Amino acid sequence: MTINIAIDGPVGAGKSSIADQVAQRLNILHLDTGAMYRTLALHVLRSGVDPSDEAAVSACCERARVDVRYESGEQRTLLAGEDVTGLIRTGEVSAAASLVSRYPAVRRRMVRAQQELAAQADMLIDGRDIGTRVLPDAPVKIYLTAAPEERARRRHLQQLAKGDETPYEQVLRELNERDRQDMTRKTDPLRQAEDAVLVDSTQMTEQQVVESIVSIVEGVYGKR
Ligand code: C5P
Repeated sequence: MTINIAIDGPVGAGKSSIADQVAQRLNILHLDTGAMYRTLALHVLRSGVDPSDEAAVSACCERARVDVRYESGEQRTLLAGEDVTGLIRTGEVSAAASLVSRYPAVRRRMVRAQQELAAQADMLIDGRDIGTRVLPDAPVKIYLTAAPEERARRRHLQQLAKGDETPYEQVLRELNERDRQDMTRKTDPLRQAEDAVLVDSTQMTEQQVVESIVSIVEGVYGKR
């Protein structure tokens, strides 16, 4: 049986980093679905299309080819064959990704691609709608969150370490705005699936979160 683990949660909950570590521990792949929406957003920006124009974005994305490849277990995300993994982590792309991912035509294509990937390999998949829409039957679903101030604090520290001096207040404001957008959109908004386990990491270290998710997975799939 293919192993499918769904992890959803708001901005800055540590999904990507935690998911990477859990996947490594379990020796399975990690699919970061946010990277796929970010890649489409990059395509929209490069095409000079306004991310708020649904018809133009939908038409622009209809032709875009987004592929995921693994190199030594690490995800690379490609736009029409170009590896854009290093280009999709900017603030501009984050904000545009949250706008373009609202549109049903965009989501339909991405959801299908993610379902196909999940069927091919043992995978831990992180995003916003994995437990509710992409893999509604996933045997393990985690909703990973933390208080907004704590998520902003962690993100702020990460950015400072990379030389990005965006003030804490702005990091918090942008995080809240992206969450609001993701939670209130009509199509597949971010929410906790009814059968998802809530992991609130506000008072937990990264290591504790990894351990708790590994033990939830082992409770379902057995010790790996
Ligand atoms: O996870 P990450 O912050 O990289 O995702 C970027 C954006 O892509 C999110 O703010 C959200 O709007 C969108 N997204 C989504 N559904 C997913 C993953 C990401 O709508 N499964």
